[in-house]
Amino acid sequence: MGRITAYHSPGFAAPIGDHLMPIGKFQLVADAVRGWDFVDIRVPEPVSEADVLRVHDRRYVEAVKTGLPRELAESQKFPWSPLLYPSVLLTSGGVYAAAKQALIDGSAAALASGFHHAGPAHGEGFCTFNGLVIAIDRLMHEGAIRTAAVLDMDLHYGNGTAICCRGRPYISQLSIYGNDYWDNAVYRDVTTRHHQDGANHRSAALPAGCDRATMLAIMNEHLPYLLERAKPDLLLYQAGADPYYEDPFSPLKLNHDDLLARDRAVFRFAKDNALPVAWVLAGGYTRDTSKVVKVHTNTFLAWREVYG
Ligand SMILES: [Zn+2]
Repeated sequence: MGRITAYHSPGFAAPIGDHLMPIGKFQLVADAVRGWDFVDIRVPEPVSEADVLRVHDRRYVEAVKTGLPRELAESQKFPWSPLLYPSVLLTSGGVYAAAKQALIDGSAAALASGFHHAGPAHGEGFCTFNGLVIAIDRLMHEGAIRTAAVLDMDLHYGNGTAICCRGRPYISQLSIYGNDYWDNAVYRDVTTRHHQDGANHRSAALPAGCDRATMLAIMNEHLPYLLERAKPDLLLYQAGADPYYEDPFSPLKLNHDDLLARDRAVFRFAKDNALPVAWVLAGGYTRDTSKVVKVHTNTFLAWREVYG
C-alpha cells in the first residue's frame, strides 16, 4: 500500500487565544492521523525571510515581525504576539516541504493552512503570509519547477493568491468557492458579486444550496482550466473544511461524504493527469471542531482510495 507524508509542527499554531479561527485544529488533525498505518508525519523547517520577501513587501514583513505598525501587523485579524512571525515561517515551511515531497512521491500533505487571503502588502481573513505562493516561488527559485497550479476549494474566494498571480505567469489558479470575502467582511451571495478573472486565474461559484452533484459538475467543467495554459509541474490543493453545511459561513449543502467525494475527484484529476499534488488544510469554523477535523482526516481517506 502507498504511503503519504504529512508535515506538521506544534509551532504551526500562533497563540491567538479564544478566536473564531480554531487554530488548534492543526494539532488535532495530526493527532488523528498519526496512528494511521499509511501516514508518516514529519516536522518541516521554517522558510527564510528571503523566501517570504519574494512574495510580500518588506514593510509588511517587518510589521508581522515587530508588531509595528500594529494595524498592519494585525491586518489578518489575529492579535499580534512575538510568536506570530515564527509560526507563519513554519506554516509556509510546511507547504514548501509538502510541495517538494510531492515532486518526489507524487503526493504529500501539509497540516497547515495555505493562507490564501494574504496579498503582497497586507494580511486578510486570518491569513498572514501566503504559504502557497511562497512555496511555489521558492521551488521556482531552486529550479525545481517551471509551472504550478493552485486549486482552491476553500469556501471563500482565494483573493490573495489571485492578486499574487499578477506578474507570475507560471502560476494558474482556479478558485471554486461558495462565499466571498470583501473588505474583510463575509458576503454569502456569490451571485451578486463577480470576480475579475485574469489571464492566469479563474473563479467558479458554487451556488447557494449547492449539493454534491452540482459541485462535481462545476468541478468537471472547470478543472481542465488548470491544464490549459501549460501542464503544471505541481498542483497545490487548498482543501477547505468551511464548505461543510454546518459551518457558520457556508450557504452550501455539502456533508462529510460530499466533501470526501470532492477530495476523491481532485485526487483522480491529479492522478489521471500525472500531476504531483500537495494539499493543505484551509478554513473551517464549525463550532464543533471535531466536525472540521473530520473533513480534514477524510481527505486522507480519499487519498488512500485513489493512491493507496
Ligand atoms: Zn474560508
